[in-house]
Amino acid sequence: MRMLDLIEKKKTGLAHTPDELAFIAQAAARGSVPDYQLSSWLMAVCWRGMETAETAALTRAMAASGRGLSLGSLRGPKIDKHSTGGVGDGVSIPLAPLAAAAGLVVPMMSGRGLGHTGGTLDKLESIRGFKVALPPAAILRQLRSTGVSLFGQSADLAPADRKLYALRDVTATVGADPLIVSSILSKKLSEDLDGLVLDVKVGPGAIYPEPAKMRALAGHLVRTANHLGLKTVAVLTRMEEPLGRAVGNAIEIRQAIEVLRGGGPSDYVEVLLVLGGWMLALGGKARNWEEGAEKLEALRRSGAGLARFREIVRLQGGDARAVDDPERFLPLAKHSVEVKAGRAGTLAGLDARSVGRLAVRLGAGRQKAEDKVDFGAGLLLYKKRGDRVKKGEALARLYASDTKKLKGAAEEFRSIAQFSARPVRVPPPVIGVVRG
Ligand code: URA
Repeated sequence: MRMLDLIEKKKTGLAHTPDELAFIAQAAARGSVPDYQLSSWLMAVCWRGMETAETAALTRAMAASGRGLSLGSLRGPKIDKHSTGGVGDGVSIPLAPLAAAAGLVVPMMSGRGLGHTGGTLDKLESIRGFKVALPPAAILRQLRSTGVSLFGQSADLAPADRKLYALRDVTATVGADPLIVSSILSKKLSEDLDGLVLDVKVGPGAIYPEPAKMRALAGHLVRTANHLGLKTVAVLTRMEEPLGRAVGNAIEIRQAIEVLRGGGPSDYVEVLLVLGGWMLALGGKARNWEEGAEKLEALRRSGAGLARFREIVRLQGGDARAVDDPERFLPLAKHSVEVKAGRAGTLAGLDARSVGRLAVRLGAGRQKAEDKVDFGAGLLLYKKRGDRVKKGEALARLYASDTKKLKGAAEEFRSIAQFSARPVRVPPPVIGVVRG
């Protein structure tokens, strides 16, 4: 088989056979085809698309490009949650220990920050010593002992996606449904799951800012997962303003701990409980998502989720003192500015994409792949949509380690904040559910 012929085939709009897709996935994982040919093929997929069966075959081939996890020896339903990516969306961090405390086995593979969105792995690494690069044997051991592990993709877990994703990021080929679907689901398939809950973000801060495209993506994800025999539910949640009140890394871990102590912002907690409720329902630990959400809320209030999180931190080499004394062991950046409102009114909008970009400029994310993340940088939002604000009242605090990065940042935040003279109705954060 020659890559050139496969590029030609996709360019003319023909569907690939499973063997051809296996060839491409293996070539991506092994590096046996040059980047320019893989990139050219990715662009052809962007223009020509793929049928559901073809996307499913690509997903299967990408999942099979590494050894994957084998969780058959573990008792209990293996359920993961995956978000399409948002701003302030650190929900995986409190959700994974809570779901494990409720009796699920949770192999949670997460990603790094990307563009304007944050990444769970970067957030976890703000806990000193926390390791996210775990070999399959260590993941299995931890799942057996504590029911949950939080880790990153590796050479064993869908390595074809690692290669293709890196190329997509630099060749303007991220935004194509078959590529997004196969990227997300190949990683999940390699985890040997019984069920998957997807958090599909909808709004200007999502992968596609157009809501109709995100709804269509949710349909493609669920259809393809079903085709592959993976029980999947997609929950559509709003990404118009950031979720919760923290955007960054250490600051989002602090918020996750607050949530595990029974507190936290209401929109964040609602999204967590709905996603977790569906995880429990899929895993047979609750009759429906509502009952699942009630069980998780009880575990959140009892501190069982916090205890499980402390255990994860300890097992993954992190400094567990961060869990009990976050103010001291999860330091925020040395410099900060408070943003004051230039006018009175009701906060009507806080565009998630713009806030995410500001967080990246403050140092909380990467502008280039090789950039180091500043764990202490980020934003704390004092006001959110629908809140009344007096002139001069604090809207947010911005943190950065480099004072140069704070220059002009308050003005930028003020320009993002939209005001209304009238009361603003805030819709619930969960929009609906897509099921197969
Ligand atoms: N998340 C992924 O893992 N892959 C994509 O292509 C987009 C979001």
